[in-house]
Amino acid sequence: MRYSIAIDGPSGAGKSTIASALAKELGILHLDTGAMYRAVGLKVLRLGLDFSDEKAISEVLANTEIDIKFENGVQKVYLDGEDVNSLIRLHEVSKAAAATSSLRCVREKLAQAQRNIALKYDMVVDGRDIGTYVLPDAKFKFFLTANEEVRAKRRYEELREKGQSIDFNTVLEDIKKRDIMDMTREIAPLKKASDAIEIDSSYMTPNQVVQTMLKYIKERL
Ligand code: C5P
Repeated sequence: MRYSIAIDGPSGAGKSTIASALAKELGILHLDTGAMYRAVGLKVLRLGLDFSDEKAISEVLANTEIDIKFENGVQKVYLDGEDVNSLIRLHEVSKAAAATSSLRCVREKLAQAQRNIALKYDMVVDGRDIGTYVLPDAKFKFFLTANEEVRAKRRYEELREKGQSIDFNTVLEDIKKRDIMDMTREIAPLKKASDAIEIDSSYMTPNQVVQTMLKYIKERL
């Protein structure tokens, strides 16, 4: 039987970095579900649709292909056949993804796609609703947090490294807005699953977080 490890938490908590390192340690794949929401955000942005126009977005999604491929163990996302892995990291796309991810049509399509992928492989899956909604039977569940300032600082540095010019306060405000949107949406909001282990990564290095998770997993595998 396949097994999954769910890592949920707010934006900038380090989920992707941790999930990818943990998957490597365990010799399994990492599914970054945020990349799929970002691909939807990119499409909606390109078409100039209103982020809350569920009818139009639902029609577009019916003819949209979001494919996940693992190339040498690394996830790649394709939007209607196009490699969009760099484009989806733009700040504008983050905002579009955060806004459109509250729509039922978006969540249902992507959650189903994520379940289908998780059936095929042993994986670490990171997102917001993996342990609560997408894979409630995941073998291990972690909820990764960090305080707002630390998360904003990490995002800010990540964007700067990619050459995007943005000021710190804009990133901090966006993080706060995204938290509220993620936690208050009607469908599959961000929250800790009752059986998830919470880890506050504010003052931990990525390696310390990974080792904490590995210890927990190995004691129980
Ligand atoms: O994790 P990442 O920042 O790449 O996610 C982009 C956006 O997608 C988030 O702001 C969040 O609103 C949404 N998302 C979600 N559910 C997931 C993963 C991401 O709603 N499982």
